[in-house]
Amino acid sequence: QVAMQQVYRIRSVQLQADQQAWQDSSDGWRMGEFRKSLPAYKEKDTILNAISQNQVVIISGETGCGKTTQIPQFILEHETDSLRGATCSIICTQPRRISAMSVSERIATERGEKLGDTVGYKVRLESIKGRDTRLLFCTTGYLLRRLLIDSNLKGVTHVIVDEIHERGMNEDFLLIVLKELLPRRPDLRVVLMSATLDADLFSSYFGGAPSVKIPGFTHPVHSYFLEDVLEKTGYRLTTENQIDDYGQERPWKSNKQFIKKRKSQIASAVEGVLLSADFRNFSQQTRESMSCWNPDCMGFNLIEFLLVTICENEKPGAVLVFLTGWDDISSLKEKLQAHYLLGDPARVLLLACHGSMASSEQKLIFEKPEGGVRKIVLATNMAETSITIDDVVFVIDCGKAKETSYDALNNTPCLLPSWISKVSAKQRRGRAGRVQPGECYHLYPQCVYNAFAEYQLPEILRTPLQSLCLQIKSLKLGSISEFLSKALQSPKLLAVQNAIEYLKVIGALDESENLTVLGRYLSMLPVEPKLGKMLILGAVFNCLDPILTVVAGLTVRDPFLAPLDKKDLAEAAKAQFSRNHSDHIALVRAYEGWKVAEYELTGHEYCWKNFLSAQSMKAIYSLRQEFQSLLNDTGLIDCNITIYNTWSYDENLLRAIICYGLYPGICSVVHNEKSFSLKTMEDGQVHLHSNSVNARDSKIPYPWLVFNEKIKVNSIFLKDSTAISDSVLLLFGGTLSKGDIDGHLKMMGGYLEFFMDPGLAKMYQSLRREL
Ligand code: ADP
Ligand code: MG
Repeated sequence: QVAMQQVYRIRSVQLQADQQAWQDSSDGWRMGEFRKSLPAYKEKDTILNAISQNQVVIISGETGCGKTTQIPQFILEHETDSLRGATCSIICTQPRRISAMSVSERIATERGEKLGDTVGYKVRLESIKGRDTRLLFCTTGYLLRRLLIDSNLKGVTHVIVDEIHERGMNEDFLLIVLKELLPRRPDLRVVLMSATLDADLFSSYFGGAPSVKIPGFTHPVHSYFLEDVLEKTGYRLTTENQIDDYGQERPWKSNKQFIKKRKSQIASAVEGVLLSADFRNFSQQTRESMSCWNPDCMGFNLIEFLLVTICENEKPGAVLVFLTGWDDISSLKEKLQAHYLLGDPARVLLLACHGSMASSEQKLIFEKPEGGVRKIVLATNMAETSITIDDVVFVIDCGKAKETSYDALNNTPCLLPSWISKVSAKQRRGRAGRVQPGECYHLYPQCVYNAFAEYQLPEILRTPLQSLCLQIKSLKLGSISEFLSKALQSPKLLAVQNAIEYLKVIGALDESENLTVLGRYLSMLPVEPKLGKMLILGAVFNCLDPILTVVAGLTVRDPFLAPLDKKDLAEAAKAQFSRNHSDHIALVRAYEGWKVAEYELTGHEYCWKNFLSAQSMKAIYSLRQEFQSLLNDTGLIDCNITIYNTWSYDENLLRAIICYGLYPGICSVVHNEKSFSLKTMEDGQVHLHSNSVNARDSKIPYPWLVFNEKIKVNSIFLKDSTAISDSVLLLFGGTLSKGDIDGHLKMMGGYLEFFMDPGLAKMYQSLRREL
C-alpha cells in the first residue's frame, strides 16, 4: 500500500507539472483568462469552503456562469493541490448523455489534456476514461446502475448532481438514494447544482444544507409576443384574436411588392398558428391543437419569415430557435435548407442541437462563423440551461416542449408537445443576452404566456411510475411506496398503487411485490415495460426484426399521415398494408417497403405516395438500432448475429408477441348483424380511431383486440390495435408462469362473464380448475 501511494504521489506530481506547462503556454494562458472571467471563478473560495465544511452543498447561478465546467474543476484542483489527488474521485451526473460527453471534452480542452486523462466520461455504450481519471462525467442513469452493484459508492469522494432544477425523474430518484447513503458514508460530499432554484426546498430536504448563489449578469432582452410580430408587418390582433389589416406600412428595407407578398404570408402564418394553438381553449388542449409545429404547417412558415427578416435587416449575432423535439428540428432543417437565403452556406450556418446529435456537430455550435455568415441553431429545450451558446443575440421561442405526461385514467404515458412554464420562457429569453442586448420572439400571444404555469411539474409527479418502481425493486430499496414517500415531492398514492398493480398484472412483480425474472430483465431495459416485454419475447422467439419495428413505431410520432383534406386517400393507402386486422403489422409492412425503396433511393417518393412520414421512418430506423443494442446489453441477443430469419414474419407469432406487450390493453369484439361493437371492462363501449385499419372493416374475425392507447374525446377511442384469438390471449396475456395463468384465467373468466358469454366463461373456469 505504501508503495502504491508512492506511485500515486509521483504520478500526481507529474500531472501537476504538465498542468503548469499548459498554463504557461499561450493557449493555456488564454483559456485561463477565459475561465477567470466567468462569474463562478469569483466564488471559488466560498464554494470550496462550503464543500469542505458540509456534507451537502447547493449551488445555483445564472446559466453560463460556469457551474458545470468550473465547479468540478475547482474541486479537482483543490484536491490535487493538497496532494490528496490519489484518493479523490469525483462523479458528476448530467441528465443527458450528450452533455456528459461534451462537458468532459470541454474541460479536458480547458486543462490542455486528452479526454480520458484526469477527466473522462461514461455513458451507456460509450466511455472514455483511464487509470488517472479523477473526474468522471456520466448520466444520472449510469450512476443509478452503478449503485446496483456498488451501493456504498466505494472510493467515490464527491458526487455532483447537475441541473437539479429540471426535476427529472432520475435526478429526484438519485437524491433519495443519496440521502439514504449519507449517514453510511460520512466522508462523502454531495454537491447539487442548478440554474434557477427553489433552494429552500432542496436545503430543507437535506436537513438545512447551505446554499451558495453565484451572482450573474445578462444584458437586457426585448421580448416580442405574437401580436408584436404581427404589428411589425402592419397587421394587428383584434380583441377576438382575429387578424386585422390596419394598413400601416412598416419600414422594411425591401421593395414594396415584396413587402406586400410578405405581409400576406405572415398574416396567414400567424393566423394558422393562432388557429392551431387555439389558446382560447387553453385549459383543454387536445392532441390536434398541438400540431401547429408540424412540418408544412403555419408555425414553420412563421419561423422561416422571422429568420429571413433577421438575416436581412438585423444586426449580426447568432439565432437560437427553440422547437419541441428532434423530429421538428430535422423537418424544419430540411425545409430551410431548400430556401434561397437560409439554405445558402455562404450566408447561413444552419445547425441542430438535440440529444442525439453527432459530436462533430456539437463543436460547431460553439464556434463563431467567419465572414459575416449568420449562425442559426435549431434546438430543443436542452439549449435552455444545459448548453450555453455565447454569441446568441436572437431567440425564437415556439412556446412548447415535449414532455411526458401521464393520464391516470388511461394509465398510459405519452410524449407530447405541451406549453412550457413561465420559468422556461424566461430562460429561453435570457439566452439572447449573453454578450449584448438581444431580442426574443415568442410565437404565442401574451395572454397565452400569462396562462403558463409558474414552474413545470416535476417529472415524478406527472409520469407513470412503472419503470421507476422496477428500478427501486432492482436496487433492493425495500417497499416501493415507503421508498417513494421519502422523495422531495412524493407522487400520489394512487399513482404508486396503479404502477404496482400494473407491474403485477403484467407479471413483473409477484403478489408480494418481489421482482420476477421478467421484472429483472425489464429493469435492465430503459424503456416502458410494455415495450420491454415485446423486445424480450421477440428476442426469445427469434423474431426481433419485425418486433423492433413495432416497438420503434410505438415510440415515434404516428408514421401514417392523415391530412384532413385527403383523409380518404390516406386511409386507403394505409389499408393496402393491412390484410390481417392489425395496425402494428401494417406498420411493419410499410416500413419493410420503405427500406427497399430507400435502398433504391426512392424513399421519399414511397412516403409521399403512401402518406407516410419520412421523418418517422428514419426515426424508426435509428430507434431499431438503439433497441437492438439495449437487448445486447442485457445479454438476450448478440448484436453481431443477424436478426433476420424466415419465420420471424409469421403473423400469428407477431400477434402473440404484440398481445404479450400490450396486455392488459384489451377489448372484446361483439358482432351484431351488420357490424361490430367494442367494449372494455373499465369503460364499456369504446370506438376505433378512424385511422385504424380495423375501423374500415365491417367484420373482425377475432374475438379480441389489443391496443396501445386510448384517447378520450367525447367518447373513448382506441388508437392502434391488433386483433387476436382466444388462445393467444389466454397464453400471451399476462405472463407465462403457472401461477399467473391461474390468476389470468380468473381475469379472463371475469371478462367473459362481463361480456355475457357464460358458456365460454364456464369453459375457462373449468380449464382453470384443471390447471
Ligand atoms: P453553467 O453550467 O453555469 O450553465 P457552463 O459551465 O456550462 O455554465 O459554461 C460556462 C461557459 O463556458 C459558457 O460561457 C459557455 O459558453 C462556455 N462553454 C461551455 N462549454 C463550451 C464548449 N464546449 N465550447 C466552448 N465554450 C463552452
Ligand atoms: Mg450547466
